[in-house]
Amino acid sequence: MKKKIAFNTLGCKLNLNETDSLVSDFHKSGYDIVSSNEQADVYIINTCTVTNKSDRKSRNIINRARNKINNPVVLVTGCFAENSKEYLERFDDITYVIDNKRKSQIFSIIDAHFNGEILKPDELKSGVFDFSTAETSLHTRSMIKIQDGCDKFCSYCIIPYVRGRAQSRPYKDILKNIKSILTCEYKEIVLTGINMGSYNYEGTNFSTLLEMILELDGDFRVRISSLEPEGIDPLFISLMSHPKMCRNLHICLQSGSDRILKLMNRDYTIDNFKTSIQKIKEVCSNFNFTTDIIVGFPGETNDDFKKSCEMLIETGFSHVHTFPYSVRTGTKAAKIDNHINSKLKAERSSIIRSLSEVNKKKYRESFIGKKQRILIEKIVQNQAEGFGEHYIPVKFSGTGLIPNSFCEVLITGIEDGNNPVLLAEPVIRYNNL
Ligand code: SF4
Repeated sequence: MKKKIAFNTLGCKLNLNETDSLVSDFHKSGYDIVSSNEQADVYIINTCTVTNKSDRKSRNIINRARNKINNPVVLVTGCFAENSKEYLERFDDITYVIDNKRKSQIFSIIDAHFNGEILKPDELKSGVFDFSTAETSLHTRSMIKIQDGCDKFCSYCIIPYVRGRAQSRPYKDILKNIKSILTCEYKEIVLTGINMGSYNYEGTNFSTLLEMILELDGDFRVRISSLEPEGIDPLFISLMSHPKMCRNLHICLQSGSDRILKLMNRDYTIDNFKTSIQKIKEVCSNFNFTTDIIVGFPGETNDDFKKSCEMLIETGFSHVHTFPYSVRTGTKAAKIDNHINSKLKAERSSIIRSLSEVNKKKYRESFIGKKQRILIEKIVQNQAEGFGEHYIPVKFSGTGLIPNSFCEVLITGIEDGNNPVLLAEPVIRYNNL
């Protein structure tokens, strides 16, 4: 009888990527992957601790698994597990608490468990880059982990304490990994890490690594999941117009006020940030920029907040992920006075979200009448859905369309709503009209 296993993942793309790899390990070995609402033999919860809300969500999902009636194996991993290990280990019905550096060993732990062996997690080999490649059935894109950890210690952030110091994966391993997944029909490579801009392996920095990846043979494209401003240098800027490069970057701004950036221990100024954006726009005019903004950092005045809004409008970020500041014990910001009340933080978040929606619609509408090269993700009743090189969702109809292939389309319209999908026609059909 096949064992049933369910996964829950919270937080960043790196966590999602690591879960995908674990799902593939279990699937290849004959486990049945089921939804976490179903009765399973094993529940794996890959947690996050970046905000109080993430802690709460992690605890709720863990409790749901603990309350299942058949005494399943409950394994908790990820940053909440790392940060709250002692708390979690108090519960007898949590079978394993696994730290981030041994997350890649989870298949061995569970498989040994069902074979009657007891593996002591703390004695297992540790390796943050030892994850196997996720199966093509999960996504049309493959995430490649190039880096882990962070040395920046931004004053609000708990990540350096739970993911550890910055580590860069050897570039030869990254290139080998990408070459092998390109032979498995992947068409999009997404580079992931905690702070990829700090990549440095034996003198090879992030831009040089990116250049080496873009020079690999094959019809594929490269996307960067998220970047701190420090990773942007002249080589990086010139690579943004490379034909294999997606025209989309998520650059973390966090605040539009230099005063707040300094309190956050961010090592750039608004002028530096604007210059980088401007230089990328010069090599690629309709580039898609998205960002993160924290509202209600301790001491954030109306004037500081106004500067974040102005920056959002001026830069034209097409999407803003906004977080109300929340205290993380152990960080420097937790000791700063002058905390902002929740009501004001909620108001500021709501203003940022509204501005972001206006930008998003305006940016997406600017594609009407232009061409995009879509990577088709799925086809339902002759209707294809996918993303163009600017990473905007597009829908179009046609015959003979194939999932996981590229198709050039002409953008003809846009749907209504807060996350409007672009509507298009395949170019071949357009040319034949
Ligand atoms: S760069 Fe700052 S915000 Fe990003 S992970 Fe490092 S410490 Fe956290």
